[in-house]
Amino acid sequence: MKKDEKIYLSKVSDLGCIICYRLGYPGSFAEIHHIRGIGLGFGVRNSHYNVLPLCPEHHRGNTGYHGMGRKAFERKYEITEQELLKQVKEMLNEKDESREENRQSYA
Ligand SMILES: [Zn+2]
Ligand SMILES: [Zn+2]
Repeated sequence: MKKDEKIYLSKVSDLGCIICYRLGYPGSFAEIHHIRGIGLGFGVRNSHYNVLPLCPEHHRGNTGYHGMGRKAFERKYEITEQELLKQVKEMLNEKDESREENRQSYA
């Protein structure tokens, strides 16, 4: 894994579990869940960027992605994993934008 990928993964897990966040409990400890791209093989570029932060329960527990399976999980939380991925990327962009503003004020 490349260095920038590791940094990205730590940023994602720093967001906290995305499902807990949507349920109104932001900032819970999160593991990294890798989304399996449809039709993508091994070694596909950017595959490390298709990740979601999920807490142990929402990842592997009875109400979690691997406990229920993707379809049941998406039905229960009324969102698809692609939409969750989009939300994670938006949250990361918001963080980056606020850093960008800080940098400009020192320019
Ligand atoms: Zn959670
Ligand atoms: Zn997983």
